[in-house]
Amino acid sequence: MSSPPEKLTPMMQQYFDVKRGLPRDTLLLFRLGDFYEMFFDDAVLASQLLGLTLTKRQDYPMAGLPYHAADSYVTKLLAAGKKVALCDQQEPAVPGKLVRRQVSRILSPGTTLSANQLDAARNHYLCALACDRAGLHAAWLDLSTGEFRVATDALLDNLLPVLTALNPAELVLTEGDLARWQAAPHDQIALHALHQFCAPRLCTELPGYHFEPGLGAQTVTTALGVLNLQGFGLAPDHPALGPAGALVHYATENLCAKPENLRSLQEYRSTRTLLLDPATLRNLEIFQSTRGTREGSLLSAVNRTVTSAGARLLERWMAAPTLDLAEISRRQSLVGELVERPGTLGGLHDSLGQVRDIPRILGRLQNRIRNPRELGGVRDTLAQIPPLRACLTGAGPATALAALGAQLAELPALRAHLAAALADELPADLNDGNFIRAGFDPELDRMRALTSGNKTWLSDLERTEQERTGIKSLKVRYNSVFGYYIEITKANLHLAPSDYVRKQTTVNGERFITDALKQKEKEIFHAEENALHRELTLFNELVAAVLDHSVALAQTADHLAALDVLAGWAALAREWDYCRPVLDDADALEITDGRHPVVEQMMKSDRSLHAGSAAFVPNDTVLACDDAQLMLITGPNMAGKSTYIRQVALITLLAQIGCWVPAKACRIGLVDRIFSRVGASDDLARGNSTFMVEMNETANILNNATDRSLIILDEIGRGTSTYDGLAIAWSVVEHLHRSPERGPRTLFATHYQELTQLEKHLPRLRNFSVAVKEWNDEIVFVRRVIPGAADRSYGIQVARLAGLPLSVIDRAKTILAKLESDDATVSLPAPTVRPKKKISVTPTDDSQLSLL
Ligand code: ADP
Repeated sequence: MSSPPEKLTPMMQQYFDVKRGLPRDTLLLFRLGDFYEMFFDDAVLASQLLGLTLTKRQDYPMAGLPYHAADSYVTKLLAAGKKVALCDQQEPAVPGKLVRRQVSRILSPGTTLSANQLDAARNHYLCALACDRAGLHAAWLDLSTGEFRVATDALLDNLLPVLTALNPAELVLTEGDLARWQAAPHDQIALHALHQFCAPRLCTELPGYHFEPGLGAQTVTTALGVLNLQGFGLAPDHPALGPAGALVHYATENLCAKPENLRSLQEYRSTRTLLLDPATLRNLEIFQSTRGTREGSLLSAVNRTVTSAGARLLERWMAAPTLDLAEISRRQSLVGELVERPGTLGGLHDSLGQVRDIPRILGRLQNRIRNPRELGGVRDTLAQIPPLRACLTGAGPATALAALGAQLAELPALRAHLAAALADELPADLNDGNFIRAGFDPELDRMRALTSGNKTWLSDLERTEQERTGIKSLKVRYNSVFGYYIEITKANLHLAPSDYVRKQTTVNGERFITDALKQKEKEIFHAEENALHRELTLFNELVAAVLDHSVALAQTADHLAALDVLAGWAALAREWDYCRPVLDDADALEITDGRHPVVEQMMKSDRSLHAGSAAFVPNDTVLACDDAQLMLITGPNMAGKSTYIRQVALITLLAQIGCWVPAKACRIGLVDRIFSRVGASDDLARGNSTFMVEMNETANILNNATDRSLIILDEIGRGTSTYDGLAIAWSVVEHLHRSPERGPRTLFATHYQELTQLEKHLPRLRNFSVAVKEWNDEIVFVRRVIPGAADRSYGIQVARLAGLPLSVIDRAKTILAKLESDDATVSLPAPTVRPKKKISVTPTDDSQLSLL
């Protein structure tokens, strides 16, 4: 910050005192009357980011924004990755006296609670990390909903994928860690991966002692209001309690109070979930399409939620599919019951549509962000519980739906209380008043009657003064500077009575006050102030009543979110004819008539646009760790290989989140990780070439896959020369097949025809191809995956379909014919494209490997 001027006014002295107490990178918004002002470097930066006019006060830069619009300006500052401290007046201004001011909260991307600054459909995580010899220790907290978790794992590869899927808005790290990880020796791959994860995000660094597990255990215990953490299954020396404590400390600093909405602390264990690494999330377009949009992702294809909490839960389930067969079966059964009851489904859909975001409302109410609409949200949601319960219990006494319905808390007293107290239309700002319903509180009604009585007196006054003075145009008016006044036009000024006191001259006349008018004005202001005061008291009582039931409300909200996701899946299953997959501990993967959930939907919408476009062609899959372990799929470009192998991965993922799947029948032995290496993706921004990315991802797969994993490999080895590529693809296949009895279920799509010969030597490898039909030297894609290798690659025919000039196609045919005839005497004018030798593939033993 620029150094302060030497002679400071008391107010500026106060400003600097506050500023000194803030973390260095925090912008201070300093409340002066109706404005938040920024000074010095903060003013310059904010004027650039917000387009505010930069002014000067005693020669130093200043920029201000109206306090009632602060939320939208702060939203922009947070989006730019800044932190903002709001310093507010703690008492009404009195002339000649310095107003007491204090920071009321610090807003940062990971700790804000304002609805404008949060994506309703996504969780918003603050995450703390620590890394030592024992592994990576992490804690993450969504302060807006109170979800709080810890995890520790000796293997970074088990935890980093999970953290990446969380996509934290802000990280809390030990001072110096980031620089240490960056400067780590080259072979410390884990530390570099950690640095790569953290560096692009907003990182807040705290002194190391905040990460001490002993202190963390204490901080967390206090925040959760429990005696110890045993109830959450956590030992007091759990290493992730260090980061957890740092998170609570940081959240407390930012809220300027202890977070009040933390209910529990859960431990995440990688052994309980299907792991999806970042490359797989990206390659399989789970949350985003490769174009960076939600549309075209698996998430958007299976998202039929109508509540924000439901949308967030769906994303959490998809980021961490479970290995818990009982939980999968519970979700499947609920979907099944709903699939069979379209009437129930319709009723649920209507009621859930009226449900508000209770977890975030509670988060705000508990952390002192309060306005009447939040209470309205609780009222509107509670009003939906009876119809929702009726809908669920209507499914029949022994159903899972009825059991779920019984868990929804009706809270009839609270519901009736809120319905009676709150007006139909609620203001966003507490100070606007008029949110308590007339007839609810006799005292408030009396105060309001006084105000309206006084207002009648005022309108009567206009009439009596017109009569008394004989001035027909006399008006009684109000403005915020003078309060109430009597206005007389110039032409009538001579008629103004002597008891009128002149206050102001305007272009058209004069404004007067009288003693009686001022007396009435006082009464009106007083009555309005009293009424608002009374409303605020009633409001606080209502908030307390709601918070008394916060646990029941939060649990009910969790059930509603799950119901929303499951009802959405049932609608999806009905609409797209999905089936209930059978999940077990065996190691098979069998899909009959499987379809790609995203491509299928896109083709349908295309078909409604272009009559005559084809429908999606279903295909079967049979894999088993100890039998058909590896499907090697060949076929021309564009035949449908990538679509097919991805559809198997997506069906598996859907099955393990409890969703039904796009197939006629499906049986899946639980999968512990899905790995994919699909298509070419450059990561040039991070200095990695296409080939390097491909090899990194392949290395990750080969190093981490277990026999329970599902592996999807597409065009391995494409990014380098033919020989290199083939050699790598070949040895990767062998590696995956190395154990004599069993290996990870694998789908391997390749354009290296030579690899199909491996079937003779690797007993668990099966050749498949995507069929095409040839017709008049043209090919027709039939999208059928059939046993056996493809006979040729049809590259030239596909090139023609792509619109290459006919002259190029003809020339390519000539070259191909010559290459295939292996006629060494042919002269090719262009640089040689002919492989030097024909390649045949035989088993792994080097002595037998022959390049003829
Ligand atoms: P490849 O990997 O063999 O080059 P893709 O999987 O990229 O081929 O498929 C090419 C296009 O074919 C896809 O964009 C999709 O529109 C279409 N397609 C793929 N599989 C099917 C199918 N089973 N049914 C209908 N269309 C399909």
